[in-house]
Parts: sequence; structure tokens; C-alpha cells
Amino acid sequence: MNSSNPAIPDIRIGQGFDVHAFGEGDHLVIGGVRVPHERGIVAHSDGDVVLHALCDAMLGALALGDIGQHFPPSDPQWKGADSRAFVRHCNQLLAEQGWRVGNVDATVVCERPKIGPHAPAMRDNIASDLGIAPDAVSIKATTSEKLGFTGRGEGIAAQAVCLLVRA
Ligand SMILES: [Zn+2]
Repeated sequence: MNSSNPAIPDIRIGQGFDVHAFGEGDHLVIGGVRVPHERGIVAHSDGDVVLHALCDAMLGALALGDIGQHFPPSDPQWKGADSRAFVRHCNQLLAEQGWRVGNVDATVVCERPKIGPHAPAMRDNIASDLGIAPDAVSIKATTSEKLGFTGRGEGIAAQAVCLLVRA
């Protein structure tokens, strides 16, 4: 990519954002972790906001489009899909172009459920799927101070940033 131009460092950055509405159900899947909740997620796949934001960050870092292009909701093969497979697929795309993820920083936005107790397992899942150390994966959480759709408990949002370095 930029390796021929010494003025541009061999790093890339990407960011992603995702939202899902709450619906019928008794659990959410966040960062590959099944989190008990009085609502479920309305989504074609497992509706994992953290992993979807991460995939968009990874794809965005190499200007490879977005998750909707790579895993179209209209495609029946992604119905109920485990989003960890999306992450592994994106990681493979990066590897094929000679890149790997250096670190990930993600923020989950919701009033409930509490994310903190599950964050270590989420970090482990992401680190495992990317082949990096858990201390290179950050999962943070915040509320939106009861404002907006997340504040009203209508859904959940996540943002993610990742840095790519040459493999
Ligand atoms: Zn999503």
C-alpha cells in the first residue's frame, strides 16, 4: 500500500460504529459473549455491536468497504451468524494484504446490561480471533446519561478503532 512511500508510515487506522435495536429475547451477544438481558437483539446475524464495529474498523483501515458489503443482510448464509466468523474473515483479508491488527479500542454505549463484568471475556474472544494479546484489546463502556435511544433502553451502540501494522 504505502510502503513505497517513505513519507507515509507503515500503519493504518480504522474506525467503526454500529447500532442494534432491542427486541424479543433474553440475551444479547456482545464481543462474542452471551450476556443475559431482559431483551434480545433485532438483527439478521447475532447482532454483536462490538464485533460489527470492529469489522468496520478493520475494513475501513484498508478502505475495503464496510461490513454490509462483505456480509450482506440479504444473504441467507449470514442469518443468525456468529459474528466472530466475520472478525476472523476480516482478519484474513488484512493478512492477505500484509497487515495485522496492532491494537483495538472499543466503547459500548448502553444503560444496561453492565458490560464491565463481561469485558475480560470479550477481550479474550477478540484477541483470540485476531491472534493478538488480550492487552492489545480494550473494551470500555459508557451510558448516554439516559439520553437518546440508548438512554431510553431501546438499543445498544458501539464504536471501535483499530490500528494496523505491517505483518
Ligand atoms: Zn451490527
